[in-house]
Amino acid sequence: MRRLRNVKIVATLGPASNDYDTIRALFEAGADVFRLNMSHGTHEEQRARHAIVRQVEKDLDRPICILADLQGPKLRCGTFAAGATEIEEGQPFRFDLDEAPGESHRVCLPHPEIFAALEVGSTLLVNDGKLRLKVTDCSPEHANCIVEVGGTISDRKGVNVPDVLLPLAALSEKDKKDLEFACQIGVDWLALSFVQRAEDVEEARVLAGGRAAVLSKIEKPSAVDRFEDILKASDGIMVARGDLGVELPVQAVPPIQKRLVNACRIAGKPVIVATQMLESMIESPMPTRAEVSDVANAIYDGADAVMLSAESAAGQYPIEAVSTMDAVAIEVEHDPTYREQIEASRSPLKTSVADGIVAAAREIAETTDIKAICCFTQSGTTALLTARERPRVPIIALTPLKGTARRLCMSWGTNCFVTPGEVERFKAAVVSAARAARSAGFATEEDQIVVTAGVPFNVPGTTNILRVAPCDERLIFATDT
Ligand code: PGA
Ligand code: MN
Repeated sequence: MRRLRNVKIVATLGPASNDYDTIRALFEAGADVFRLNMSHGTHEEQRARHAIVRQVEKDLDRPICILADLQGPKLRCGTFAAGATEIEEGQPFRFDLDEAPGESHRVCLPHPEIFAALEVGSTLLVNDGKLRLKVTDCSPEHANCIVEVGGTISDRKGVNVPDVLLPLAALSEKDKKDLEFACQIGVDWLALSFVQRAEDVEEARVLAGGRAAVLSKIEKPSAVDRFEDILKASDGIMVARGDLGVELPVQAVPPIQKRLVNACRIAGKPVIVATQMLESMIESPMPTRAEVSDVANAIYDGADAVMLSAESAAGQYPIEAVSTMDAVAIEVEHDPTYREQIEASRSPLKTSVADGIVAAAREIAETTDIKAICCFTQSGTTALLTARERPRVPIIALTPLKGTARRLCMSWGTNCFVTPGEVERFKAAVVSAARAARSAGFATEEDQIVVTAGVPFNVPGTTNILRVAPCDERLIFATDT
């Protein structure tokens, strides 16, 4: 079950990936993180998916990361009697507050604040901006529109209003309920949609109360403007290109992606590149060449993870989509240019003992024949710093905390193991590192590994030891550490 690549794969779960066999097959094909999209489905459906992932985790004895993605102040239309309808250029279409199922000429838009802010001439974009409508007349309860660009509009599709300032709170009432629910079932990460400022992240962090790490989705122009502060306040970032490319001109997205990925790498915080990565695979077993290039380029940029949305949640080829990402990642990571790019953009930021130790661990591992860098970590910080180095040899993160192991599964190159019980002595740490390296197939008894740890153990932020150790336990016991 050893992955042959460092970049991680996030697969969104949905109707196409609801059962044990599919979720297990997704994991086996390469999905490292499962995303529960709180915009779709009921709590009971999410609870069931969560339980299946945890069952797969148990059956395969590998930590698996679960990310709950909160809808945020995202505007979505209601549902349709037929699930969807076609709208054509030039036809009238009405949004209103009537909860009755939509049909060919109207649908509910359950956001009174939009109707309060809309004006004649405002533009409404639906389904990632694919459909465009212009408001011809409106009241606090409705907006009549003319369709400018038509297409299919289906249940709960996203609606953006790029040219109107909407006075929306960072976390809606629904988000607060979903956040509490997600923390209670035990997800590892919370993703916040439409973050606009660092305070939005702080608010969620207080509510999460340490039960889950907090990831900010960058999908608003205001979040791009305030990115430095948002990054400081967050544990991770998602370049949420779907809404970003609706709120901003699409051509603004690639340079933003590169800038954000780079900033996250310098900060040593995981960054996911998301949306439409293999979009055509929703309906086709083969991706387009452009999609393959897009996945490849996100990996060349140095992203920690690439993400599947509808491809795995609602598409016809969820497993194939994961396998495709896996294959692309393996190919890219074997390209010498990838290594050159990754090393040329390595973070220069080194201010602490831990920074020095992880850099030294990488140098030693790359200079001599070392099979893995094993780091003991409580909070996950040392593993994040090690991943930030983007070493050529595999990273093994060992922690007594299941939550830390699961959270780290989203980070570049990090292979996570839960140590049975807390490690108290360094020799015991080396033994369990050697065991993990051998059992996961990274090393044999003849090999050597680098082990980093903080002594005293179980005190976060104390990384202060680096040892080159044999993987043969008799040799470990023969030495007097
Ligand atoms: P979404 O977020 O899929 O929840 O909209 C990702 C994006 O906007 O890219
Ligand atoms: Mn979005």
